[in-house]
Amino acid sequence: MHTEEDGGGQGTIRASPRREASLGFTDLDVLASRLEQDGDHYEALAALGEFLGPAVETRATAEEIAELPVAKVELVSRRRTKDGKIKQKLSVTGLRVDRCTICQMQFRPDQMACIFPCLHIFHDSCASRLLKTVRTCPHCRRDIAEPSSPRILEGVV
Ligand SMILES: [Zn+2]
Ligand SMILES: [Zn+2]
Repeated sequence: MHTEEDGGGQGTIRASPRREASLGFTDLDVLASRLEQDGDHYEALAALGEFLGPAVETRATAEEIAELPVAKVELVSRRRTKDGKIKQKLSVTGLRVDRCTICQMQFRPDQMACIFPCLHIFHDSCASRLLKTVRTCPHCRRDIAEPSSPRILEGVV
């Protein structure tokens, strides 16, 4: 009979010293765990950014700006309508463009345009001014460091 084999008596309560408790949880730990838990990352990310302060770069770096493809606005076709207005079709590397949503002005042939990875296109000058303060597309909020789609890589580089 081996009745005493598995229990080992009653003295098995382990009083493990909670060393991590002395370190405590920082707000960052809480935020990080929240990031892992719920799907809505944006709020937590924003809070994380606030918590970390200036360490988080919200602007584009000069290198990132330099990596964005820049191309000339080309005139695809131009025609005069019956009432005398000139209608023109413009493109940048084959992508149709109409107006720059940063300055709300129509593109014109031979202007330089900056193509974001999301394929939104803005005046080069408007984009570089904007990217000194933000690093996302003003149109769709995608980060400019997100990889380009294969389409743009074929068309431009
Ligand atoms: Zn513009
Ligand atoms: Zn975009």
